[in-house]
Amino acid sequence: MRFGGLKAESYPSRLRAVFRVNPLWLKSVQIGVEAEAVRFRCPCCGYKTLETAGALALCPVCWWEDDGQEDEDAAEVRLTVNGQLSLDEARTHFALCGAAHPRFLPHVRKPLLSEL
Ligand SMILES: [Zn+2]
Repeated sequence: MRFGGLKAESYPSRLRAVFRVNPLWLKSVQIGVEAEAVRFRCPCCGYKTLETAGALALCPVCWWEDDGQEDEDAAEVRLTVNGQLSLDEARTHFALCGAAHPRFLPHVRKPLLSEL
């Protein structure tokens, strides 16, 4: 099938064409392409805020930068993107104040419904 010059199967695998029936025209029309809701949980706050795991993305809910640290090495201080913070410490801070570190509080936001 072709839509707007693009073959449907040429869309990136994480995108899908969206079709709705337009009641005025009584036919199916493509209204856009939306990203599928494939998200990864932040290892610190646990909300589904990350598009890719371990890709150094900054979580908007807790401000932890996902460098791939997980449960197995959560106590380790990597001294990289999260500075002196270990994942364990960041999780404790998040539980206590709602951010990976209190200094990040001005930057964080509440999780969206879609991130629960
Ligand atoms: Zn987070």
